[in-house]
Amino acid sequence: MSTGTVASAGLADPSEPEGGPAGGAAAPSGGPLGAVALPPRAERAARAQEAVGRLGPAGVDAVAVTWVDNAGIARVKAVPLSGLVHAAQWGVGAAPCFDVFLADDTIVTSRLIGGPTGDLRLYPDLDRLVPLAAQPGWAWAPGERYTQAGSPHPGCQRLFARRMTAAAAGRGLTLKAGIEVEWVVALAGEPQEEPRFPTAGPAYGMHRLTDLSDYLREVLRALAEQGLTVLQIHPEYAPGQFEVSVAPEGPVEAADTTVLVRQTIRAVSARHGLRASFAPVVEAGSVGNGGHLHLSLWRDGHNLARGGSGPHGLTAEAEGFLAGVLGALPELLVLGSSSPAGYLRLVPSHWAGAYQCWGLENREAALRLVTGSSGERSTAANAEIKCFDATANPYLAVGAVLATGLAGLDQRLALPPEFTGDPAAATPGTVPRLPAGPAEAIAAYRKSAVLREAMGEPLYEAVLAVRTAESEQYADATPQELVAATRWRY
Ligand code: GLU
Ligand code: MG
Repeated sequence: MSTGTVASAGLADPSEPEGGPAGGAAAPSGGPLGAVALPPRAERAARAQEAVGRLGPAGVDAVAVTWVDNAGIARVKAVPLSGLVHAAQWGVGAAPCFDVFLADDTIVTSRLIGGPTGDLRLYPDLDRLVPLAAQPGWAWAPGERYTQAGSPHPGCQRLFARRMTAAAAGRGLTLKAGIEVEWVVALAGEPQEEPRFPTAGPAYGMHRLTDLSDYLREVLRALAEQGLTVLQIHPEYAPGQFEVSVAPEGPVEAADTTVLVRQTIRAVSARHGLRASFAPVVEAGSVGNGGHLHLSLWRDGHNLARGGSGPHGLTAEAEGFLAGVLGALPELLVLGSSSPAGYLRLVPSHWAGAYQCWGLENREAALRLVTGSSGERSTAANAEIKCFDATANPYLAVGAVLATGLAGLDQRLALPPEFTGDPAAATPGTVPRLPAGPAEAIAAYRKSAVLREAMGEPLYEAVLAVRTAESEQYADATPQELVAATRWRY
């Protein structure tokens, strides 16, 4: 299940007696199934055996295997270390109805996925298996879901991200991605309580870092022990808010990393009598938590954001890709900012990128171009999608950005003129606002042939069902009620 390996065509594990089209689900329409076929069972068993031999002496007793549902919640099945070889061979049972869970655990249904019947197999990706530094005795691996016959589950979000990565690779392109993690840290208390902060330090204040220096140091150590390269950690604007950023990597790896970073922060917080919230807004009216997605497109080791004749040195391919993403931002919000609470954050003058425009280093533009300092531009130049938040399923977010970006590249789209300055101060109507609520984003998503085709009907419709249900659920909620309902869910 190496994310770097694009297996040859063919539906399933050759060692699966019932594998292949006859025993599996219909092919999803969104990309080559061969790209996400399971490696042979014997290979999976041997790799798991090797991992058990390594992790046992290191004190690991159990492995948590996560997947992220369409509401953006990381769900988990865990096995004792002694069960890892079996889990790698046969997967762990997981009901398909998880695809239609809402963030509050309500279960809905969709046209193609839902109901109490059926079972899927969740397979740990052993390439990403790592002991959890802040949860002694535990290791973690991201999971992927296949049918009992060994076919890719068409609703699996991580497989979607891998299919889109393979679609880019088919054009000779790779994407590097990184997701910034912002969170608010509060004193642990009852879930329904208003947050009380462990520091009263000002925005970006050294005061805040000093108050929480042991805690932040432990976050850094835990992330490093888990093999992550931290670029920066700092206090953010809102009370109790911090941010950590990590080095860019492949899109699937970046999505895995954000799951790992968040659960690490949560675990370190618990060890300090604290509680972390990654919700879009933690206190109504305050600046929120973003989940900005940085991306750069590469061909043959060359960063396509540089050396071209487009704006700020963009190559035609990078420009086409970014134009595809920019044009699709209203529908991308359905995947990049899942919760209705995200629209409380996505407002002007909050650095959340509420306007559908792009600009060099413009923090109010939904698409911010970053070229970096002279001398390191060929590696540093990238684009940042600011309107996304941590309620996104990160696999859906990167997969959908790839789908819409590649569509723009294929159509050789050009970017509209750059916007400089504050869009809120521009003549009203000249800079389009992104959707102000979920209904508007859902309407754009319904019209997106690109996303429907890339995701395949089962996944596309399951997301639609979840998003529609959450939109209706909170249609009459006040901002305070919506914040209270989501504050401790993410
Ligand atoms: N917290 C802001 C947001 O909601 C972003 C601040 C920043 O630019 O880092 O997206
Ligand atoms: Mg920030």
